[in-house]
Amino acid sequence: MQKNQLEIINLKARVEGGEEILKGVNLVLPKAEVHALMGPNGSGKSTLAKVIAGDPSYEITAGDILVDGQSILELEADERARAGLYLAFQYPVEVPGVSMANFLRLALNARRDGDEIEVMEFYKKLQDAIKNLNWDESILERNLHEGFSGGEKKRSEILQMLVLEPKYAILDETDSGLDVDALKIVSHGVNAARGPEFGALVITHYQRLLNHIVPDRVHVMYNGQIVKSGPKELAMELDKKGYDWLSQEVGV
Ligand code: ADP
Ligand code: MG
Repeated sequence: MQKNQLEIINLKARVEGGEEILKGVNLVLPKAEVHALMGPNGSGKSTLAKVIAGDPSYEITAGDILVDGQSILELEADERARAGLYLAFQYPVEVPGVSMANFLRLALNARRDGDEIEVMEFYKKLQDAIKNLNWDESILERNLHEGFSGGEKKRSEILQMLVLEPKYAILDETDSGLDVDALKIVSHGVNAARGPEFGALVITHYQRLLNHIVPDRVHVMYNGQIVKSGPKELAMELDKKGYDWLSQEVGV
């Protein structure tokens, strides 16, 4: 148990009544580092992200998740956000009648436990983030995600991350989300957020994203467990040799 890290300890989880999907996951993400989680389709990457987010459709049968030494297993999804976690899909897809700017201010204030951010400070933060994403300020007046294209939603996800300044962000990049524009947005945002108070776990099937986000460490999930961890070169090795090589190598 340690401060300044997100720690996943022997985590086992399943859909109620089903077989275990996560079969004892161990992973440590120190604050200030960016780690990549790779692995073949169906290995449990998205399940891990959803379990960390507190998705109620999964049942945890063993293990723990610690944020800075505190277990979050008993916390609701919004309390997990207040503990410093950011998971893009935690937030509603569309909020009719609520502008992006208002939504972000509400979300940020909800995280600050009554210590409301000053309006000027908030707008400064917002403008910086928008500039970082090469976006237009008119987006702030639009209703959250209403009529947003796929690329705009992705950008909004990253904008939220930049404004909310989480301690740990979990970004699950599904294969479909990996068109060139989305890839640039995500990598730009993560690189802009990088710093001593920010850690990220970037989940990706392909090595491509990691040409733009250079991870401090790479973990490979296979059949519900992390079977290998290593430096960034591991991602390239996987890309070259495929996941079959891994199954021989680690004997799973
Ligand atoms: P990945 O993101 O690595 O492709 P997933 O976490 O999506 O893998 O899926 C891992 C395995 O768990 C798959 O076999 C999938 O079918 C199963 N699974 C995930 N979520 C559910 C669910 N809600 N109900 C039933 N099976 C599920
Ligand atoms: Mg997935």
